[in-house]
Amino acid sequence: RAKALGKAQYQVFDTAMHEAVLRLLQLETDMRRALEAQEFVLHYQPIVSLTTGHITGLEALLRWQHPQQGFISPIEFIPIAEETGLILSIGEWVIRTACQQLRNWQQQGLVDQRFSVSINLSARQFVQTNLIQQIDQILFETQISPFHLKLEITESNIMNNTKLVTSILKQLKKRRIHLSIDDFGTGYSSLSYLQAFPADSLKIDRSFIQRLTKSSVNSGLIPAIISIARAMQMSVVAEGIETLEQLTLLKHLNCELGQGYLFSAPLSIAETNELLIKNPCW
Ligand code: C2E
Ligand code: MG
Ligand code: MG
Ligand code: MG
Repeated sequence: RAKALGKAQYQVFDTAMHEAVLRLLQLETDMRRALEAQEFVLHYQPIVSLTTGHITGLEALLRWQHPQQGFISPIEFIPIAEETGLILSIGEWVIRTACQQLRNWQQQGLVDQRFSVSINLSARQFVQTNLIQQIDQILFETQISPFHLKLEITESNIMNNTKLVTSILKQLKKRRIHLSIDDFGTGYSSLSYLQAFPADSLKIDRSFIQRLTKSSVNSGLIPAIISIARAMQMSVVAEGIETLEQLTLLKHLNCELGQGYLFSAPLSIAETNELLIKNPCW
């Protein structure tokens, strides 16, 4: 009977599903040697002051250049890295590489003293490594000041591990590291929780910016998020600005910072160098 049941269950897996599972297993195996094989690279997306048009910093975004499959999106591989625990070593590599890169730009005189680099963190990095010690060590090695570093953690990641994450965030904050809540508006944080986090800025999720129109500008959630941020002395970054109309509306709402294809997609190191050398004003 068990055998018959097993067979019936097996038949539920159609070929597409079977292939998807195989691909996942293959990616998991491949990821184990990807760091050593130097298949990961960081791209950098400018964060722009909406009032002056100047680039105030760059967000490091991880890319996997797979030898057979080509470029694989972090949307696909980060969850696998989180599940397998590989995110711990990959995450440490990201922090170190971004700090080294910032140091290079500083030494080349391409960025000023207010320029920062933003790094995305997964909840597992809070829970399973001595994140504080790791960051202290990397800042020491690379000679980067803590206030040139911005750490991004998603709202849902914080909400799933509130106590531990909040206590680590407080220690990071003591070091004057800037803390951002990423993809804000997509999680379920309550206002009282939000007040307990020592965050310095909120990044409004791209989905809200996409829905922003002239007719919804005053009724949508964005003005509400901006006033919450003001009340809590946090700055606001709008993610995924793609059109001039969105930019105009966000400026009208006094949103101070933005990111998106309108300004620039994430860039390779060579492209970022070029951009910093030209140092354009938008
Ligand atoms: P995120 O941190 O919210 O990053 C913003 C994402 O939006 C990036 O996708 C970026 O390329 C994309 N984006 C920026 N501007 C626009 C725009 O105008 N329009 C559209 N449609 N998209 C835009 P990406 O690089 O694929 O990264 C996806 C997510 O993967 C990130 O979302 C972040 O949560 C995660 N991630 C990336 N790098 C790392 C990393 O080093 N560590 C961890 N833990 N997560 C990472
Ligand atoms: Mg981010
Ligand atoms: Mg985001
Ligand atoms: Mg995101």
